[in-house]
Amino acid sequence: MRDLSARARITLLVVIAALPSFILIVVAALLQRDSAEAEARAALVRTASFAARQQERTVDGVRITLAAAVHALEELHTDRASCDRYLAGVLGHSAGLYHSMGLFHPDGHLLCNAMPVTGVVRADDRRYFREALAIGKFAIGEYQIGRVTRLEGVNFGFPVEDEKKRKIGVAFIGMNLANFNRIVASTQLPSSAVMTVVDRGGIVLARQPAAASAIGRKLRDLPGLERGLSGASGVFEGVDTAKVRHLFAYDTVATDADGTPAIQVLVQMPLAAVYAEAGRAVLLNLAGLFVGTLLLLVVGWYGAELLILRTLRSLLGAARRVRGGDLGVRTGLHPGKDELAQLGVEFDLMAEALQRRDDDLNRALKEKNAQAMTDSLTGLLNRRYLDEYLPREIARALRSGEPFALLMFDLDHFKAFNDNFGHEAGDRVLQELATLLHSMTRSGDVACRYGGEEFVLIMHRSTLDIARRRAEDIRAAVSKLDLVHRGRSLGHLTVSIGLAAFPGGGNDAEAMLRAADTALYAAKHAGRDRVAVASSEQQGR
Ligand code: GH3
Ligand code: MG
Ligand code: MG
Repeated sequence: MRDLSARARITLLVVIAALPSFILIVVAALLQRDSAEAEARAALVRTASFAARQQERTVDGVRITLAAAVHALEELHTDRASCDRYLAGVLGHSAGLYHSMGLFHPDGHLLCNAMPVTGVVRADDRRYFREALAIGKFAIGEYQIGRVTRLEGVNFGFPVEDEKKRKIGVAFIGMNLANFNRIVASTQLPSSAVMTVVDRGGIVLARQPAAASAIGRKLRDLPGLERGLSGASGVFEGVDTAKVRHLFAYDTVATDADGTPAIQVLVQMPLAAVYAEAGRAVLLNLAGLFVGTLLLLVVGWYGAELLILRTLRSLLGAARRVRGGDLGVRTGLHPGKDELAQLGVEFDLMAEALQRRDDDLNRALKEKNAQAMTDSLTGLLNRRYLDEYLPREIARALRSGEPFALLMFDLDHFKAFNDNFGHEAGDRVLQELATLLHSMTRSGDVACRYGGEEFVLIMHRSTLDIARRRAEDIRAAVSKLDLVHRGRSLGHLTVSIGLAAFPGGGNDAEAMLRAADTALYAAKHAGRDRVAVASSEQQGR
């Protein structure tokens, strides 16, 4: 977490915020899947049941027709021509749903038929025939190709008995599968569902959507189909011949006398189709979430820049500049509810306080420095200052090649003056002299009190000649000073001046001062109240 930038943290927050929605969508999808499956199961069961009831009526129609015909056939079975005519008449009323109708003798040979027959036709191998004879009731056959009609159909048999309950024969009706398929086709199916009608052997009798190639084939390879269809009705999940998972619902159209299903209807639907709607909704929701999150990220990205990062960066920049020593920097943020702005305001106040303290310290330091460099009696700079300044001046002169001069003053017979007029008067005179020196220096020149009654003047960028003239001027001015202290005239004083010039006066401060001092000594020796220039020899020393 510590290595994440503020922006990365905001991005992470957005993603974390989107997570519950994601989980919600997935959970909702699972629930929707479940309810879609439950709905599909219910719809398939309803459809199978509805179709079974519809087809049951068709089978009932066959039974009723046969039951009605049995009485007539009991009379007519000995008269083949009348019997044939009767049967043709009944068949004519079936609107094409039945394609054959006839009567077999209990030994299996054909007694009479609705259509003319050539050759011998027997039925003793047909299930409906044997069943009808055996149980003496309406019997349902299975998929078969008619021996007379050559058409696909299912035959139904009904025993015909005389008044003494002796079996005279088995009446039959052949249901035309092509027309039966038309009835099946009228059932409303859920989209992508397939409906199949099978006989007890699993042979397909009808199918919707229509597929002529499927009729007459066995429905195979359906795990659970055998087991599933063994009951009267139900619903189960299984894999079809193409290994596709399906939901199956089935119901029974008609049963044998013992209750075994003889014709069943099966409605199936691929699970993919069942879940398709739920899947689409999930995809839509996920896409919405994705776009929403993306939008949030973009807004977060630029919003963070606008609302937080810009302020944060300006705070950071300001802090760094303060660390670098720039105490004048301010964030300029305005106070408000925003914590970052509050931080900025506090930062500005802190920088301001720091700057104030820094200024105070600097001022105090400067004052202290100035005090340390100033002579308290005369207000001139002191020797300490000169010790610092002179080497700098020499270095500067060396660099630039410009000359400068050093004048060293010493009052003549000052000890005697003090003795005469007192130390206080002496101090007063020293102040007077300082004022004079100050008034006679240019800006850029440096005048300082070098010792008790000794002064030094550095003449910046001055040649020896100029310095000599100035020294002469000062000497003359001093001698003309009218010295008065407490209303008492102190007479006149003189000064001796030693002059050393650069270049020539020595290459370092010590040499320059020594040269000027030597010249001063020479001036004293020569009688005082005069200017002496350090000789080249002295200067060189
Ligand atoms: P010279 O002509 O040879 O310079 O004679 P001088 O008497 O001036 O001798 P020197 O320069 O050696 O003596 C300096 C005298 O200056 C000693 C002291 O009485 C006096 N003096 C030094 N500092 C002060 C000061 O701050 N105030 C006063 N009033 N007198 C001082
Ligand atoms: Mg002296
Ligand atoms: Mg002196």
